[in-house]
Amino acid sequence: MTDRPITAATRCAAVIGTPIRHSLSPVLFNAAFAASGLDWVFLAFEVPDGEAPTATAGVRSLGLDGLSVTMPHKTAIISALDQLTDDAAELGAVNCVARLGARLVGHNTDGAGLLDSLRIDEGIDIAGRSVVVVGAGGAARAVTRALGGAGAGSVVVVNRSPERAERAAALAGSVGAVAPPVSVADAEIVINATPLGMGIVTTTAGEPEPLPVDPGLLGPGQIYVDLIYHPPVTPMIAAARERGARTVNGLGMLIHQAAHAFRLWTNEEPSLEAMSGAALAALLHRPESD
Ligand code: NDP
Repeated sequence: MTDRPITAATRCAAVIGTPIRHSLSPVLFNAAFAASGLDWVFLAFEVPDGEAPTATAGVRSLGLDGLSVTMPHKTAIISALDQLTDDAAELGAVNCVARLGARLVGHNTDGAGLLDSLRIDEGIDIAGRSVVVVGAGGAARAVTRALGGAGAGSVVVVNRSPERAERAAALAGSVGAVAPPVSVADAEIVINATPLGMGIVTTTAGEPEPLPVDPGLLGPGQIYVDLIYHPPVTPMIAAARERGARTVNGLGMLIHQAAHAFRLWTNEEPSLEAMSGAALAALLHRPESD
């Protein structure tokens, strides 16, 4: 954190969601503001389900300069905004609100965050690659659309509910398709966009939760990407490594989607080093089961 005093001139951005107390956003953004020498502060607000429009009215009247949006408000906030980017409109989900004059514009930076994480942090160019996305929820949809837009050779969605899989695959355009889990074996890149695989949650019957992907389908030459970032090495990541696959966790996506928000709010380039250093330090002190 900076030693800069908070004054009446300090600008304010925030995240809304519930539950929100575990959000890494304040850590990420306050580190980035401090590293850039910006007189900004970032706070987290616990906003109950159904109250996104009221909170957005508060953003307008209090003059907040930026808003991050997380579960369960990503869709419900849309009706309270003035404008959406193409990504946010097509996904029906907003994770970042920025001002355009007096107008509040809803963006979705999750897909761009994943692409930047792969390209900048991992040196992985998605163009022409065969990708399987496991899951068809909000994160999977953002990722699937971004992969299609980035020129992936194929984007195959594997999901428990087939109708949701079809809708997600359509977001990738002509390269999108739906396939059974066994198709993981043929993919160059496999992305887990389900909450499965942390090895912490147990089913109601007391069984350990299933892995999102059968590790036996993975092998050398493949890249397994998990959108989960805590713990950094999930049982699924460990299993993928054991099978010889290269692995990437979701921390890079988290940082890069926040970096996009930072640019939209401040028109400045954030320090990615400051953001990742602050995130890693915060996660180091977080119990694995948290
Ligand atoms: P959603 O609830 O929107 O979607 C969850 C998906 O997982 C659905 O497709 C669902 O299938 C599937 N799923 C859930 N439980 C099971 C199960 N027991 N068996 C099979 N499939 C299951 O979640 P999100 O898309 O918002 O988030 C998904 C993950 O991505 C979370 O772990 C989240 O933390 C992470 N994430 C990471 C980000 C980052 O920056 N790193 C950003 C956003 C999310 P069905 O359609 O059949 O219900």
